[in-house]
Amino acid sequence: MNSEIRIPDGSVHEALNTPQETTAWLISRGLVPEGASLQSYCQNRLVGLRGDLRKAFTALISGIAVDPRVLDGINAALTAAPHTPLLHHVPGEGFFRSLEHPTTQLIEHAMSVIAEDAAALIAGDDAPLLAQCEAEPCSRLLLKTHGRRQWCSTRCGDRVRAARAYARKRTQANLTPR
Ligand SMILES: [Zn+2]
Repeated sequence: MNSEIRIPDGSVHEALNTPQETTAWLISRGLVPEGASLQSYCQNRLVGLRGDLRKAFTALISGIAVDPRVLDGINAALTAAPHTPLLHHVPGEGFFRSLEHPTTQLIEHAMSVIAEDAAALIAGDDAPLLAQCEAEPCSRLLLKTHGRRQWCSTRCGDRVRAARAYARKRTQANLTPR
């Protein structure tokens, strides 16, 4: 979900911009093998799953209801990886078994692993630790693993502290009689 984030200057950083970037992102996380080459169809499906996961996690964090279509999308990803070779028949040749087209299988396998991780997290014991970074407009999601962690990074924390210090100084300046 943090592969697309709004960064402090307000712009959006997208790690899954092209099929090539999407492939590199998946390879760097060990979700597809080195040398894999995914199409824009795969990129779109992964971005779609990310959107559904973001909606589900946002619903959890803000305590709002989740659209059933979001759950359908995540459940489709959970069950998308074909683990069993299906039975086929070609007249004159006979029966044979095969898995889905390898490229389709790659993205579906990756999506099922991501959906599995996300579902285990959102329905598990750590779900109450999920939060969005409080350093507006940063949109990173995080786990409040230690104490009252409010920010995704020390950079975001420093930025908020600096803004607060600046605001305090301004308030003091305004209170000083001229
Ligand atoms: Zn942040």
